[in-house]
Amino acid sequence: MNAGQTPPRLEIRNLVRVFDGRRVVDDVSLHIRAGQVTCLLGPSGCGKSTTLRMIAGVEMQDSGEIYVDGKLICDTVFRVPPERRAIGLMFQDFALFPHLSVAGNVAFGLKGSREEKRARVEELLARVSLGGHIDSYPHQLSGGEQQRVALARALAPRPRIMLMDEPFSGLDNRLRDGIRDDTLALLKEEDAAVLLVTHEPEEAMRMADEIALMRGGRIVQQGAPYNVYTRPADRAAVAFFSDIN
Ligand code: ADP
Ligand code: MG
Repeated sequence: MNAGQTPPRLEIRNLVRVFDGRRVVDDVSLHIRAGQVTCLLGPSGCGKSTTLRMIAGVEMQDSGEIYVDGKLICDTVFRVPPERRAIGLMFQDFALFPHLSVAGNVAFGLKGSREEKRARVEELLARVSLGGHIDSYPHQLSGGEQQRVALARALAPRPRIMLMDEPFSGLDNRLRDGIRDDTLALLKEEDAAVLLVTHEPEEAMRMADEIALMRGGRIVQQGAPYNVYTRPADRAAVAFFSDIN
């Protein structure tokens, strides 16, 4: 690292995970700065979720290291537990707590006084246009509204890193573009480093500052969306992009 330059918010170096003798994540390295969205893009089964799970700390790598703000949080002998990594998580199955109100869901896991928590909950719900639903319960909301509550919940503790695994794939097409744009705007405001996993090129093109194209456990190309899209690294990358469009 150069003197005077702040380290990336998240950096992973040479991550490897072997299942049944197969390297499903095979020497993956990348770094993400605060306020930046990197999309890990690739076909089903290429190792995206496993990579994300290792960063979250719910899966152990066989080798490689993970750094947050330049500090080692995990290698093969040292490991900061998941709940102390300041990481927000969002998955396709975002599973709100059904017995808690919208406010209760967003406040879950927040620390501080009652007033502080309430203020943060109100701020975020207003930001996702759900201020009027603060006392509703999840079953009273549409899928898109539930998704926005899940986003507010994940961002409430001000995570330094947001990991999102196909968070929009359960939504119907009609809603998806709007929610993608709103989500992106909020992520930028909150200034987390975002790693968004998707198998849809269109989603990566829309949301990413940088795309890391993954195949067979490896990152085969990395760069700005326009560059990756217009200059795919190889024929398989061309096929992957053209399949969807
Ligand atoms: P993606 O998210 O890109 O679809 P995954 O990371 O879920 O891919 O999976 C990558 C590969 O690793 C797949 O072949 C999957 O079957 C395999 N895999 C994932 N988790 C396990 C596990 N716990 N045990 C054995 N194989 C696994
Ligand atoms: Mg997956």
